[in-house]
Amino acid sequence: MKIDIVTIFPEFFRGPLDHGIIRRAREAGLAAIEVHDLRAFAHDRHKTVDDRPFGGGEGMVLKPEPIFECIEALGVVSREGRSDAGQSVVLLSAQGKRFDQSLADELAGLERMVLICGRYEGVDERVGQYLADRELSIGDYVLSGGELGAAVIVDCVTRLIPGAVGNQASTQQESFTTFSQARDGNGPSSTCTSGGLLDYPHYTRPADFRGMGVPEVLASGNHEEIRRWRRRTALEKTLRNRPDLLDRAALSVEDRKLLGER
Ligand code: SAM
Repeated sequence: MKIDIVTIFPEFFRGPLDHGIIRRAREAGLAAIEVHDLRAFAHDRHKTVDDRPFGGGEGMVLKPEPIFECIEALGVVSREGRSDAGQSVVLLSAQGKRFDQSLADELAGLERMVLICGRYEGVDERVGQYLADRELSIGDYVLSGGELGAAVIVDCVTRLIPGAVGNQASTQQESFTTFSQARDGNGPSSTCTSGGLLDYPHYTRPADFRGMGVPEVLASGNHEEIRRWRRRTALEKTLRNRPDLLDRAALSVEDRKLLGER
């Protein structure tokens, strides 16, 4: 997959792209990630990329010309043909559709994704109207720039590219992953896909840490008991922290029974 990031702060990405799964995916040729300095597409000697807003008001707005010219220079196909061509131009915006695991899954299936990072009061609206085919927000809060959002999206998407994570089955069993997204590799019978809920609790050695123990069932060797415990605790945690997910999840008869057993 090819990922292009357009920003006025290219150095920002030195850290996020150079560690762990993203670094390995880049080195393995699974993800080719390039960061483009928007100021390289400014025409004046001050490399101006922003201007005052029409109509007055606070702050500055990123101008359309450098952004359009940058995307054109990348050779991305026109807005109309993009989904056929497996490409997407994404504008990071607090006003965008909320990014989530199912969108990450959809983006991971693309051949190419371009991420445009806004700054200041935002980006000239024509970028969202005529250039980008998606506007995505990473949550209901306002960041000072799109760079953190782009790093979040690159991270989530890259780890879903087949081969990026050593044990691909682990990405199928995590929080928010729906049954339809969990394509294969269910792992041992004691593990379970979250089915759109939160993941089950994980423990590792030591079994006794400062008097804090590990649930006995996990050392029982009884895979069916462990699976049931994991499912019940995932349901409980979801009920406690994210009841909204329970409303949307397709709960089985067993799930309802496990919730009732609390
Ligand atoms: N005036 C805008 C508003 O009220 O919606 C906020 C602009 S924000 C200070 C500057 C840039 O940060 C935005 O253009 C966008 O690229 C990025 N940004 C801010 N919050 C974001 C979020 N929740 N998700 C993604 N990008 C965000």
